[in-house]
Amino acid sequence: MERKPKELLTWAKDTGIKMVDLKFIDLPGLWQHFSVPLSEVDEKSLVEGFGFDGSSIRGFKEIHESDMLLVPDLDTAFIDPFCDTPTLSFICNVVDPVTKKNFERDPRYVAQKAEEYLKSTGIADTSYWGPEAEFFIFDDVRFDQNYHYGYYFLDSKEGFWNSGAEERPNLGYKPRYKEGYFPVPPTDSLQNLRTEMVMVMEQCGIKVECHHHEVATAGQCEIDMKYATLTKMADQLLLYKYIIKNVARKHNKTATFMPKPIFQDNGSGMHVHQSLWKDGKPLFYDANGYAGLSELARYYIGGLLKHGPALAAFCSPTTNSFKRLVPGFEAPVYLVYSQRNRSAAVRVPMYSSNPQAKRIEYRPPDPSCNPYFAFAAMLLAGLDGILNKIDPGEPLDKNIYELTPEEVKAIRSLPGSLDEALKALETDHEFLLQGGVFTEELIEAWINYKKSKEIDAVRMRPHPYEFILYFDV
Ligand code: GLU
Ligand code: MG
Ligand code: MG
Repeated sequence: MERKPKELLTWAKDTGIKMVDLKFIDLPGLWQHFSVPLSEVDEKSLVEGFGFDGSSIRGFKEIHESDMLLVPDLDTAFIDPFCDTPTLSFICNVVDPVTKKNFERDPRYVAQKAEEYLKSTGIADTSYWGPEAEFFIFDDVRFDQNYHYGYYFLDSKEGFWNSGAEERPNLGYKPRYKEGYFPVPPTDSLQNLRTEMVMVMEQCGIKVECHHHEVATAGQCEIDMKYATLTKMADQLLLYKYIIKNVARKHNKTATFMPKPIFQDNGSGMHVHQSLWKDGKPLFYDANGYAGLSELARYYIGGLLKHGPALAAFCSPTTNSFKRLVPGFEAPVYLVYSQRNRSAAVRVPMYSSNPQAKRIEYRPPDPSCNPYFAFAAMLLAGLDGILNKIDPGEPLDKNIYELTPEEVKAIRSLPGSLDEALKALETDHEFLLQGGVFTEELIEAWINYKKSKEIDAVRMRPHPYEFILYFDV
C-alpha cells in the first residue's frame, strides 16, 4: 500500500505524534538516525527529503559532497516503541541533493536494484527471504580497546569467554554445555524476555513464527520472522535487531549478534531461507526432483555454491565470522548441498511437502552481515546459476565430519578468513555487477573498508590468547 504524505501527516497529528525519526543504513549495515519535530515536517520534506551531513557516516566518508538527503520510505513507518515521546520512525533512502540520484553506496538502494533486476530477467518476479538470526543475551558486557572487561571475562587458562545471562546468581538450572536447545524454564531463563521481544515486534508490524533458546550454553536465542520480500526483509531485520537490543537493555541485559562470542560453543548464524516466485507460483518445487527441488532451484544452488567464496565477503563479513565457520558447531564449512547435513552450505528443509513451502536454506551467513548486501548478493549468485545452468553436482548426504581426508580434499570449502573472502570477491564479482546492482566502486569501497577498519585493526592489536602462548617466551 502506497502511503500518501498528506494523509500520513494528518494521521500523525491526530495520533499525537510529536517527533519524526529518520533512520538509514551505513555501509557495514547498522542503523543511523536523527530526529525532526513533527512541527518541522511538511509534505515537501516527506517527498524531497531531509538534509544531513553524510561525511562522518561509516563507509560513506570518501564522497566529495558531504551534503546528502534522507528520503523516507513512507511504507516503512512505525511508532518507535522505545521513545518516551510519541515518535514516528521511517527507514530512508540516501539521495544526492543536487542530482536527486540515489547514493550508490546506500545499501537499501542496492537491495531495491536487486529486486528490479530479478524482474527484468523474466525468471521470476518475487523473491522471499527468511533469515534465522541467532543472538546471545549477556548480563552485561563491558570492555574497551585495552581489554578491560567487566563481568564478561576471559578465563586465563583456556582463553574461554565466560559468563552469560544464565550463569549467575543461580546456577541450579543453568543449561549444560551445548544443551540450550531446548529445555523449558527455569533452565530456559530467557522465555519471558524473548516473548516480550516478540510482542514488541508484532506491535511494530513484524510477523513472527516462533522463538526459542538455541544450542549454546550461555543465553543463545533465536526468533524467527515470517518470510518477506527482499528489501522489506532487510528493513525488518534491522528493526528486529533494534527491538532485541533495546528490550534486553530495558532489563539490564545486553544482546549481541556477534557471530562467535564464545570459544568452543556454538556461534550465532543467520541461515537464510530463500525461494523464487512468478505470477504467484513457487518456482523451487518439483515432486520428482532431489529433495522436491525443481531444476531451476538446483541451478540456483549451483550459483550459490560456485560463488560461495566471494559471497562470504558479504554474508560472513567480519573477522569474527570465520571463528564460527569451523567444524563441530552446526555451522557450515563445505560448499556442498544436502537434505539434512548441517555442515553443508546449502540445506534443503524437508519439514513440509507443500510446494509453496519449498525453499533452500543458505547457512553460511551470520547476523554481522549487512542484510541488504547479503540478500542482494545471494540473489545475484542464484540467478547467475539459473542463467548459466550451473550444475551443483551430487548432493552430499553423508556425515561430512566423518569423511576420509581424500574425500574431504575433493570438496570445496568456505574461505577460512575475511582476508580470503575479500580476495575471492576481488577476483569473482562479475555476477554482482549484473543489472548495475553492485558497482565496481561499491565493491572496492567494501573491500577497502573491511581491510582497513577491521582486518588491519584486529591484526595490529595483541590478542589476549597471545599472552597465554607467548608471555613466557
Ligand atoms: N548456531 C548454528 C550456526 O552457527 C546453527 C544452529 C541451527 O541449526 O539452528 O549456524
Ligand atoms: Mg538456529
Ligand atoms: Mg536453520
